[in-house]
This record gives sequence, C-alpha cells and structure tokens, in this order.
Amino acid sequence: MNIYDKYEAVIGLEIHTQLSTKSKAYSSDSTEYGVLPNTNISAISLGHPGTLPKSNKKVIEYAVRLGLACKSDIREVNEYARKNYFYADLPKGYQITQDKTPICTGGFLMIKLNDGSEKKINITRIHMEEDAGKSIHDIDPFDTLIDLNRAGVALLEIVSEPDIRSGEEAYQYVTEARKLVRYLEICDGNMEEGSMRCDANVSVRLKGAKEFGKRTETKNMNSIRNVQRAIEYEIKRQIDIIENGGEISQDTMGFDAVAGTTYLMRSKEMANDYRYFPEPDLQPVIVTKEYIEKVKQSLPPLPNELFKKYTSLGLSEYDAGVLTDSKEIALYFEKIIAKTKNAKSASNWLTVQIKSFLNDSALHISDFKISPERIADLVNFIDSGKVSHTIATQKIFPMMLEDLSKSPAEIAAENNWIQESDSGALTEFVKEAIAKYPEKVIEYKNGKTNLLGLFMGEVMKLSKGKADPKVATELVKEMLEK
Ligand code: ADP
Ligand code: MG
Repeated sequence: MNIYDKYEAVIGLEIHTQLSTKSKAYSSDSTEYGVLPNTNISAISLGHPGTLPKSNKKVIEYAVRLGLACKSDIREVNEYARKNYFYADLPKGYQITQDKTPICTGGFLMIKLNDGSEKKINITRIHMEEDAGKSIHDIDPFDTLIDLNRAGVALLEIVSEPDIRSGEEAYQYVTEARKLVRYLEICDGNMEEGSMRCDANVSVRLKGAKEFGKRTETKNMNSIRNVQRAIEYEIKRQIDIIENGGEISQDTMGFDAVAGTTYLMRSKEMANDYRYFPEPDLQPVIVTKEYIEKVKQSLPPLPNELFKKYTSLGLSEYDAGVLTDSKEIALYFEKIIAKTKNAKSASNWLTVQIKSFLNDSALHISDFKISPERIADLVNFIDSGKVSHTIATQKIFPMMLEDLSKSPAEIAAENNWIQESDSGALTEFVKEAIAKYPEKVIEYKNGKTNLLGLFMGEVMKLSKGKADPKVATELVKEMLEK
C-alpha cells in the first residue's frame, strides 16, 4: 500500500475578500486601485493620534449580503476589536477587526466535485476587518518602499470549518466563494491583484483517527490553482515528515509558485500575541431584523439557485454549470428564456455560437451587441421550421452581428432563406427526385436504406436548399416505402 493512502488530509481555509466599497472601512479615503502610492490616505488611515474612525455602512450591508447567501446567522450587536501588532505597513500599530462578535456565524457553501458529487463545507464565521498597507521589496534595491493606499480598505474574512479533505475540494470551495462574491457584487474576486487572498490550514492524520493532526498555515497563493498546488505539496511534505519519524510544528509557510513548493516563513515560537481588546473608538453597530429583511429583498439570484433552475428546465449539469459560472452570462440567459420556451436551444446558442464569437473577437458578454430578446427570436424562428439550424448558424447569425436593426425573420425573408416545409410544394420535388432514379428505388426497397441520402440530396437541389430537411425526409421515406 502506498504510504500516502494511509493518511487523510484535514484542511480549513481563511479567505480574505477585499470589498469593492468606494471608501475605506473606517474613513472616507478613496479605495481606487492603481493610483499613485500614498495618495489615498488621511490622518485616520495613517492612525494619527486624536482621530476617530467611523464605520462604513456599505461594509455592513456587504457582510449581511454574504451572510444571507451563505445561510449564516447574522449578529445583532456587532462590536469591533483591536488586534495589536507591529509592522511597517500598519501605521496604527493595530488592525480594527472583530474578535468575539463576528457579524456572521455558521452557514455553508456547497461545492461540486469532479466525480459529480456535492459536498457541504461549513463556515465557522465571517467577520469585518481592515487591510494593511503594502510593503514593496522589489522596486528599490536597498530599501523597502511602503504604499499605504490599501491601509484601511474593508475586508471580510471567511473562515471555514476544517471540513475540506483534498486540494481539489479546496479548489472548488474557493471557486464557489469567488463566484458568490462576484454575484453579490461585493468583491471583484481577483486573486492575481490580491483582492481575494486565501490562507490554507493543512494537517494530516491516519485514516480513521479521531483527533486532528498539528497544522501549518500556508499563505501567498495568487490563484485558485496555486491554492490547490500548495495544499497538495503541503500534504505530501507533512506525510513524509511523519513517516520519517518527525513531527509537524505549527508553522506559517509561504508558497513558491515557480518551484511548486512551500517554505517556512515563521515558526510557532515567533507567533504574535495580538492582545485583542474592544475597540474604544467605535460604537457597536446594531443590525436589526428589519434591516436584514431589506437586504434580503435586494439580493440578486444566486448561482446555486440558478443552477437548480436550469437543470430542472432539462439542461445538463455541465450546461447549467457553464451558464452560471459568470453572473453576466446567467443574466443574459435569463433574458433569453423569458422569451422562449426552448431552454436547450437557448443554452446552445449562448454557450456555443455566442461564446465562440466572443472568444474569437476577444470580447466579454457585456460587449455583446445582439440583445437576448433577438436571440430568443432566432430560437423561436428556427423552432417554427421556417429556417434550418444550419442556415441560422452559418448565415443569419453572422448577418445579425453585422446589422443589429434586423430581426432573424427579416434577414431570412430578404435573402430568400425561408425553407419549404409546405408539403404540397415539397411533394412535387420528392416525386421528381424519385422518378429520376427508378433502379435505386428498387435497391432501396431491397434494404439499401442508406440510399435515402441520394434522394434527399436531389430534393435539396431541386428546392435550391430550401426544403425543410425534417419534413422532406419524412415525405421521401413515405413515398419510397409505398
Ligand atoms: P487561528 O486564529 O490561529 O488562525 P482558527 O481557530 O481561527 O485559528 O482556525 C483557522 C483555520 O484553521 C480554520 O479555517 C480552521 O478550520 C482551520 N483548522 C483548525 N484546526 C485545524 C487542523 N488541525 N487542521 C487543519 N485545519 C485546521
Ligand atoms: Mg488564522
């Protein structure tokens, strides 16, 4: 037996989401990204003595949105706490956070695994806090540069229960969390730019053991894939240590994405004692039931609800997944199916033709000019049997992209693409086609049924490509089998 198979990994994630509020958590400083260093700052975010922080109402609203979406309990009396530590990019010498009274407790995210199964990952807590500034070590060869624009920007920290068992599950969990904050429009979810950051607590234990093993915490993964890679490496590293008679120490690790390995950042001996105490400068924020109800009314449709809706419309889980991956795609789809009953065809148009057009032209769905109502017209037009699917994809759709003013019906009529499904006219073509090959008719009757294609080709030629293939096939068969 492989030594690695004897063990089970236990993983809990802490995800920091940087909120997309216009101003910071406790001051009116702007949060605009990419501006000159140290321009979005004020006496408050610099922590000058005598200044008073003020809580940003939007942060409360965003926390309540996320808590509702995760089915958490939302706290009424929210106190803030000071978490004290010294660091050059933390000018106040402490971070304002929540300690004993996180705004959300409990709740969960459902994840989908590659084998098609679902798993519930419980959430311990979600609390409000502020970000620190940035220390930049790679611009000046001698000095560390400090940019305090980020100091005081609002964060929500989502702490999971140690319910995750593999790198893959962690990957799916972070993917779900990112999708959710994007749907809720509370965070752009961009891990590369650091607006979503994830710390992975990893331990291993023998399968069947009750107690958890000692854990390490790995930081600095700048993509969801790297969260998975870091965890998989860390699991293997810990098992190797234990198998060699060693012990795991509760260290903080970093992840080197190029080497694919974790490395020691801080050992437990250097762990901080944060000396939390209640923040004296901020009043507790009261979140009433009425307020929660109001926020609930304003929640957008959530990805897992839409996923269920789409599978119940008969779409495959794969298609429902593609449609709900991004909120913009899902909302576009919602507008198509408001105007057509054929969800399957609507889904195909969106996930195949429209997506490949967008990919080929490097556009985003928000840049797509054809309205969802027009796409619904096209779906309905094909279903009416007036044009073939081939004509629609190869001719009509490209023309709709060229000329937004015309409906699919107008384009088809102007170009003479309306297909012949009137069986009176079709019968004549079919008769003519059959009369042309009397000896083939005999062969067909003797069992060479693949000759059907020959007759169909003739009908298509005679009708100048306008015969409705479904109706024509039926007619040809009927006449041949007479
Ligand atoms: P800290 O504040 O020291 O980071 P927490 O109790 O807040 O500790 O836990 C942080 C994260 O670590 C949580 O996501 C939790 O699920 C996870 N965790 C706790 N114990 C273990 C363990 N033995 N193995 C893996 N993850 C763990
Ligand atoms: Mg922690």
